[in-house]
Amino acid sequence: MAKPVIWTVDDDPDVLRAVERDLRRQYGNRYRVMAADSGAGALESVKQLKLRNDPVALFLVDQRMPHMSGVEFLEAALELYPEARRALLTAYADTDAAIRAINSVKIDHYLMKPWDPPEEHLYGVVDDLLDDWQTSFRPPFQGIRIVGHRWSPHFTQIRDFLARNSIPYQVLDAETDETARQLMASSGADAKQLPLVVFADGSHLCDPTPAVVAEKLGLKTKAELPFYDLVIVGAGPAGLAAAVYGAADGLRTLLIEREAPGGQAGRSSRIENYLGFPTGLSGFDLARRAVSQARRFGVEILAPQDVTGVRVDGPSRFVTLGNGSEVGCRALLIATGIAYRKVDVPGAEQLTGAGVYYYAPMTEALSYKDEDVYIVGGGNSAGQAAMYFSKYARSVTMLVRDGSLSSYMSQYLEDQIAATKNIAVKLNTSVVEVKGEKHCEAVTFVNNKTSERETVSANALFFYVGAVPYTDWLASVVERDVQGYIVSGTHLLRGGKRPRGWTMDRDPFMLETSVPGIFVAGDVRHASAKGVTSGVGEGAMAVKLVHQYLSTV
Ligand SMILES: Cc1cc2nc3c(=O)[nH]c(=O)nc-3n(C[C@H](O)[C@H](O)[C@H](O)COP(=O)(O)OP(=O)(O)OC[C@H]3O[C@@H](n4cnc5c(N)ncnc54)[C@H](O)[C@@H]3O)c2cc1C
Repeated sequence: MAKPVIWTVDDDPDVLRAVERDLRRQYGNRYRVMAADSGAGALESVKQLKLRNDPVALFLVDQRMPHMSGVEFLEAALELYPEARRALLTAYADTDAAIRAINSVKIDHYLMKPWDPPEEHLYGVVDDLLDDWQTSFRPPFQGIRIVGHRWSPHFTQIRDFLARNSIPYQVLDAETDETARQLMASSGADAKQLPLVVFADGSHLCDPTPAVVAEKLGLKTKAELPFYDLVIVGAGPAGLAAAVYGAADGLRTLLIEREAPGGQAGRSSRIENYLGFPTGLSGFDLARRAVSQARRFGVEILAPQDVTGVRVDGPSRFVTLGNGSEVGCRALLIATGIAYRKVDVPGAEQLTGAGVYYYAPMTEALSYKDEDVYIVGGGNSAGQAAMYFSKYARSVTMLVRDGSLSSYMSQYLEDQIAATKNIAVKLNTSVVEVKGEKHCEAVTFVNNKTSERETVSANALFFYVGAVPYTDWLASVVERDVQGYIVSGTHLLRGGKRPRGWTMDRDPFMLETSVPGIFVAGDVRHASAKGVTSGVGEGAMAVKLVHQYLSTV
């Protein structure tokens, strides 16, 4: 943390120099002494300090200054630092003004000029003021702060992006938080420019996209080399495992991820069926560990970066990135998983990100402390979310289309849900409407057996209703099934015949697509088992097959 600041402001250069010198001599090892010769100049610097979240302990200000008096300066500065101690430097003639200021800006003290010797007339007072300030001082948060409206989809998107990339941040509600108001004033951002993202160095961005924030944070989105042994698209469990094993085996490996490493698993509050973790671990934790392991082996990770196309040129494969550039490789692995399916319920589209969420990050649970939330879906992901939200929310209601939880949910989760008092399960139930002006306010659902409708007030509705592969960008390159899953291995052989255009004198390897040297692993693969363990297994296996392929070309 930066040293707390003692500000001194005086328009007389000789007095300013003297007070600055005396303060530095006595307090310089514990405090940063800053000086300005005008109220306006000082105020600009105070705004910058506020943006950096640097603490101010004391303002020691001359009362009689042209343009802005000491009292006027203190009035403005205290808007930004209400907890700082304040003292006026006065001449004998200004004593009345100083006494009035005790009431108007609640100054803590006034000091007569000259204060020589400082040991007698200055340090005792300043010591007292600083001791007093220290007792109520709480060290400020030193990271990214985001100011926004609770129901703004952009606000949610930036929070989600930072959380999933393991970047610490603090959320400040523009409507209710005093610091949020101060940051808006210091940066000059108005309500239409939110969310406001303020960085630790005091710089800020108004309503930025995640890509702009990523660039500002120096996240890597450009490849270092033009050509790699192995390029992997997608950093879910399958892609991360392949990256670790590929690099460990000596392949120059590039991993490209559109959002943040972890994939779907990164949204899981507790994976309980992963080998070696008897009490489970969060998907976020799994991703964090895998990323450091991958980096240790020398994997280059680009995130956030989108892959939008693939091109084959002789033995080389090229991927096109979202910024239009291309990266080449000897072997390519597609591990893009599946992404949530949107529902066609009236009202849901308009309120997405404003109380209606799909596969919400777990950090969202904190925003619904002591509130009533509704979760739609009856699979494992819905069950995990219900368990996690139940720790924060007053009540969690699961709306499940089927007649029982057992159809899609693991028994251990069903048991946990049954034993959790603030979770209710409504079976045979479908959501038919979501209502709200600026954010979700009410949800209507219907009992599929009795046709009985019920409308409840609700601030939040979380959908966990299945996912689909988004592989259109690969349509003209590799073979896909009718749902878009990528076909591989023996599934490509029809009546014993190899796929059209196949150039090798052998059948496709188990995880190889209809193009030699392009492999697929994880949930996006046709007929895959789906899940974290199988994704990791397939990622590891794909690397072995890549080696076999490379030894033949
Ligand atoms: C909430 C939740 C809880 C779950 N709990 C469990 C559990 O307890 N146990 C279990 O076994 N399974 C669980 N699952 C399922 C499990 O997470 C998935 O089966 C697993 O993550 C699949 O891994 P994957 O690597 O194949 O794909 P994904 O995890 O889907 O990762 C694919 C990645 O590719 C990226 N990507 C996609 N397209 C592109 C592109 N064009 N360019 C760049 N990147 C791209 C995506 O952003 C994503 O990060 C859960 C899923 C969810 C959503």
